[in-house]
Amino acid sequence: MPQKFSGSTAHANLGPDFFDPVTAADFPKTILRYRNQPWAERMGLETLSDEEWINHFGRFAPLPDSFQKPLALRYHGHQFRSYNPDIGDGRGFLFAQGFDHIDGTLRDFGTKGSGTTPWSRGGDGRLTLKGGVREVLATSMLEALGVETSKSFSLIETGEALFRGDEPSPTRSSVLVRLSHSHIRIGTFQRLDMLDDHANMARLVDHCIAHYYPQLADLPRAERVPAFLGAVATNVARVTAQWIAAGFVHGVLNTDNTNITGESFDYGPWRFLPRYDPQFTAAYFDENGLYAFGRQPDTMAWNLTRLAECLVPLSTVSALEPELNRFWPAFQAALAGSIVSRLGLISRGAEADGALLAAFFGFMQAEKPLYEQVFFDWRGGPASAERAKGSPQADLYSGAAFADFSAALNGYEPSISANLDHAYFKRTHPRTMLIEELEAIWAPIAENDDWSGLDAALGDIDVMGAAYREAIFTAN
Ligand code: AMP
Ligand code: MG
Repeated sequence: MPQKFSGSTAHANLGPDFFDPVTAADFPKTILRYRNQPWAERMGLETLSDEEWINHFGRFAPLPDSFQKPLALRYHGHQFRSYNPDIGDGRGFLFAQGFDHIDGTLRDFGTKGSGTTPWSRGGDGRLTLKGGVREVLATSMLEALGVETSKSFSLIETGEALFRGDEPSPTRSSVLVRLSHSHIRIGTFQRLDMLDDHANMARLVDHCIAHYYPQLADLPRAERVPAFLGAVATNVARVTAQWIAAGFVHGVLNTDNTNITGESFDYGPWRFLPRYDPQFTAAYFDENGLYAFGRQPDTMAWNLTRLAECLVPLSTVSALEPELNRFWPAFQAALAGSIVSRLGLISRGAEADGALLAAFFGFMQAEKPLYEQVFFDWRGGPASAERAKGSPQADLYSGAAFADFSAALNGYEPSISANLDHAYFKRTHPRTMLIEELEAIWAPIAENDDWSGLDAALGDIDVMGAAYREAIFTAN
């Protein structure tokens, strides 16, 4: 075991009422399919051999100074607006916690598909291999596009045959380990509210502040609870804006899938938008489009209102309300910031950026263009006018609908992070991960156990990430 890993058992400080110690399934096979080496380095685990890796992330041998037994976390949640008190970690658990060596952040190693728990209800506690591959692709894309997201840390195929309604069955199985900035959800608060457990609610708020919002720790008690709500609302607003700017539809924005750190996580039936379309819905079972692309901001505001309700017994409505109301202005500001940043521009202040935002969505609404292509073509603003002429949708950049957006772009200069000289921006098409691309990666795995398409896609996503990220480092 490398010396660098610094483990933690912080979550256990909440006390035994927050979780159930569980045992992982004993899988017939453990075949390593993905290991996230950059994040292993950040966690001090990069020197693990593949065998040691499988022992920890497929067999769940404890990591040093972390939990001796995994913890299935207790929570409730609103699922598609119906309150469900019977959920909780039904196919996952908190395996370990540890500190990030770069920024000191406390991070969780959580699982998906690691076996049944007291919260599995009728489920098998398993994850399909395709589901695991989908989560690896979602997190890689989102991280490269600058969205605050959990990371896929490890994917191991487990050799079982699973039966699922939404995949040709039997289908292959896997266990995923994700690295998250907390697994505390709005549903964790809702459970305590339903139980009228105010003592544990206060303890949970203090825990969240100590580990995730330490800047609030010195406030007097009466201010701490509302300030916590305001900080969560601000972070949730930021990630919501990042989804919109990335053209991402999470698909299942239930309150148990809403992390109090404002980190996006738990990727089931997600999609990226092919073309701009506020009604675009990811999950086939979301028949009313509740979690459609354009409804994600309203949904997150609704989820935050549920968190605010939980905090009323510890505070007052009049103290909480203004903090909850931070969501919409924070979302507007973060959306303008995200669009300006994705276009590789220097901000010109709130008013001009707000006008650019309006013109951008005016054009989107009128022409329904290929979504990612617009950011790619207009990277650096007017500086890319020649590049944009070579775009597969160049015809959309001359019509009347484009004129307002073009006029709004005109005052903008490329930021130092526009990075237009990067090889990535010399292509005609951006990297995307639309459903057909994902199915084209999966088919050879299913048919011939051929993983080369996944490797190639992940390599290409890294190129895109570098085109954005290297530049961000330069800008700092
Ligand atoms: P999700 O929609 O993935 O966030 O899951 C919602 C709830 O259903 C959580 O409590 C999960 O643990 C549980 N769940 C989902 N799939 C399974 C499964 N195959 N076996 C047991 N529980 C599951
Ligand atoms: Mg979930």
